[in-house]
Amino acid sequence: MFDFIIVGCGFAGSVLAERLASQIDKKVLIIDQRNHVGGNTHDYYDEAGILVHKYGPHIFHTNSKQVFTYLSKFTDWRPYEHRVLASVDGQLVPIPINLNTINKLYGLDLSSDELSSFLNKNAENISPVLTSEDVVLNSVGRELYEKFFKGYTKKQWDLDPSELDASVTARVPTRLNKDDRYFTDTFQAMPLRGYTHLFNKMLSHPNIYTMLNTDYKDIQHFIPHKKVIYTGPIDCYFDYRFGKLPYRSINFKFETIDQEDFQPTGTVNYPLTNLYTRSTEFKKLTGQKHPKTTVVYEYPADEGDPYYPVPRKENQLLYNKYKALAESVPDVYFTGRLGTYKYYNMDQVVAQSLTLFKRLQEIDTLMPAN
Ligand code: FAD
Ligand code: UDP
Repeated sequence: MFDFIIVGCGFAGSVLAERLASQIDKKVLIIDQRNHVGGNTHDYYDEAGILVHKYGPHIFHTNSKQVFTYLSKFTDWRPYEHRVLASVDGQLVPIPINLNTINKLYGLDLSSDELSSFLNKNAENISPVLTSEDVVLNSVGRELYEKFFKGYTKKQWDLDPSELDASVTARVPTRLNKDDRYFTDTFQAMPLRGYTHLFNKMLSHPNIYTMLNTDYKDIQHFIPHKKVIYTGPIDCYFDYRFGKLPYRSINFKFETIDQEDFQPTGTVNYPLTNLYTRSTEFKKLTGQKHPKTTVVYEYPADEGDPYYPVPRKENQLLYNKYKALAESVPDVYFTGRLGTYKYYNMDQVVAQSLTLFKRLQEIDTLMPAN
């Protein structure tokens, strides 16, 4: 008899497995339909011997000391600050848009104050800011919106930015200084030996049994257990009772090139050209030394694994129906990016699972021992 079956070996499920097993001595079965642990962060050495991320580039960043300290139990880190260039008008310029971006793009030599006036002159005064289009027009105006955001967003989501919640493009700020880092979080680092190594350590507790290549639907009635933690798509759990929640997928095309170095930064974005959104050279992220290099190109798609919840009001309303239903099911807990239909980064998923663990721990102390 397992105390918990946990569905999904990504961060959401694995953090809970580790906490339940190590802190309150629960016997946990964690399963995944895939043939590996790590969920969408899974990494492996490709044929050339280069460490790559199977489901696209994963860069760890967080402002939460709690999350960083917790994950540090399972990995050492390689300090890494991600930088991205966007290919616009035949030039590679930094994104997020900052002082260097504008000066390079237009051949100017503006100061921060002058950039502020430049942007104010172009920005459209939109109030209230509701959509992803509003966010960008409001901060940089239409020309830069069209160069950097409109096309990329259309490719990534197959939606116009005006059809997406403000939160999507708000992920990418505008800066008046020369800070060209993609993220500004306090902690920015890559797991020194990769994500899979981190997960193997996290799941190595003797109370944890890991079962891969296993769909929850195939085993739920056969393996005795008390509670379930479900980190797969919530609509799938309920057999799409209220209809399908939209997810955006991606086809990843990997290419190993017989040269040591391929592009100037970890990622290059292509807002105006190509069918892919971005190219990422893994060695730039991991620091691996190798005479060859592997790059991944991301081609967004409708069909395929559910990678991105699509932040729009109507989808949130549909999710709310599933959420209400989920709350009525005893002893089943939903968490993670798919389980709660939230466009979460890795650190947010870890924080969410640590919070759910606290709740489960409280419930456990209230229950008589059995
Ligand atoms: P997942 O990792 O998706 O894990 C869920 C697991 O559940 C999956 O392995 C799935 O196979 C399994 N599962 C589902 N249904 C079933 C079932 N019925 N039976 C058995 N198993 C099932 N975040 C960052 O912080 N930084 C980044 O740079 C970053 N880059 C990203 C790039 C891409 C292309 C994508 C798609 C995401 C990126 N993220 C990034 C987000 C990050 O991947 C997620 O926040 C995180 O992996 C979510 O973890 P999770 O455990 O909730 O979900
Ligand atoms: N975005 C854009 N141009 C860019 C980078 C991002 O239009 O050069 C928009 C796009 O809508 C994207 C969103 O901002 O989906 C969030 O970007 P982020 O890099 O955070 O996406 P993720 O890494 O989650 O795919």
